[in-house]
Amino acid sequence: MTKFTDFPLIAPIQKAIKDAGYTAPTPIQTRAIPEILEGKDILGYAQTGTGKTAAFTLPIIQGIAKTSPRHGIKALIVTPTRELAIQIGENISTYSQHLNNVRHAVIFGGVNPSSQINSLKRGVQILVATPGRLLDLHSQGYIKLHQLDYFVLDEADRMLDMGFIHDIKRILKIIPEKRQTLFFSATMPKEIERLAARMLTKPMTIEIAQKSSTAERVEQQLYHVAKADKRKLLVHLLEDETLESVLVFTRTKHGADRVAKILNKAKVPAAAIHGNKSQTARQKALKAFKARDIRVLIATDIAARGIDVDSLSHVINYELPNIPETYVHRIGRTGRAGREGVAISFCDIEERSYVVDIEKLIRKRITMIAEHPFSENADAMPAPVEKPARRRPKPSEGRANSRSTKPKAKKPSKGPKKEGARDGKPSHTHFKNKAKKTSHRKPRRQENTSV
Ligand code: AMP
Repeated sequence: MTKFTDFPLIAPIQKAIKDAGYTAPTPIQTRAIPEILEGKDILGYAQTGTGKTAAFTLPIIQGIAKTSPRHGIKALIVTPTRELAIQIGENISTYSQHLNNVRHAVIFGGVNPSSQINSLKRGVQILVATPGRLLDLHSQGYIKLHQLDYFVLDEADRMLDMGFIHDIKRILKIIPEKRQTLFFSATMPKEIERLAARMLTKPMTIEIAQKSSTAERVEQQLYHVAKADKRKLLVHLLEDETLESVLVFTRTKHGADRVAKILNKAKVPAAAIHGNKSQTARQKALKAFKARDIRVLIATDIAARGIDVDSLSHVINYELPNIPETYVHRIGRTGRAGREGVAISFCDIEERSYVVDIEKLIRKRITMIAEHPFSENADAMPAPVEKPARRRPKPSEGRANSRSTKPKAKKPSKGPKKEGARDGKPSHTHFKNKAKKTSHRKPRRQENTSV
């Protein structure tokens, strides 16, 4: 088994690792640390929780240990959320605690930049940043990147998900071409693959399998419902008190406000958070949600990135995302740290093709809940083009058939737990409307606000 002492890491770093209580390197550390120390580019498929932060920060700290903060920024780490930026900054503090000349700064949006500017003025070798604030302070002349040796792009797929891809392309234009690049992403959607190919030179690819993926950990349910009935279905589901702390995703800010209004009218304590709300209003809502004063938080994808609540019982996709990776990120908000979580998706006829793409990505079918008072009658819909399922169903799953989506009863069900299949196993119907399918290829522009 590999030990940290097998790596040619200098004594002050070895001591910091020991102080942190790490006994052995994680798989990504075992594979990445020697390669990064040798100057190689890395393409890492890994999620938070695998120890990837130490995998890239330890060799970077070693690489800059002999430089002075006066020599300019040597390493730039770009990460999608302020929480991650802060976490990475904390790790750097831990690992560089026995090196007096290593200084770093963490910058992110949504707060007054003056203290960030002051730390930049004092000089740092490592800068951890979210994209918006980085570009902002760079354009104001507070950040000079011409001395850069290392560029780390962390959680690249989440960047895409949050609409930061253009910011990343802009960042690539302001950093030197000659550099070492470390690129991390949990998934590799096409656009991220293209970005990686553009950014990396002969990279070493490291893939770290997850113990269990989000899709496996989270119980997922699908409700076919007409668009106009979604509000009623939401109120109905929230009558079930086991839905303790619920994050509802809407596509637009306006939609988030509308859902909050509907719920408050129905006497369900709820608040919406999105880019049009002030930072104070967002934090107030978040605090109330964490304190369980409000039960439901409604958010857009961008706003949800700041939500760091560990004990979400349910995620509800009031509207399904047209980008399948967004679905995985959304449902990953529940069932964190091995906890059980439930993700409920409302699907109107226009969203059916999104389900096909989501199921292809997660490589499983979402359990359809057919029995609910607002179940959409399959017969009343414009004739969908039914295509064979992408994989052959196992005999135990029975035959997916459009008839199985028909509601058995119009009586309200108690909660979201009832499944539609006769044999108690997930049943599901695949509808695929060709016209929809091609039109959804062009992704709707995701909401994009600065960090
Ligand atoms: P990360 O995936 O970088 O977010 O790391 C997840 C957690 O694992 C953090 O709390 C780290 O401090 C911790 N960690 C990282 N490397 C090790 C290690 N080799 N042994 C034990 N814990 C570690």
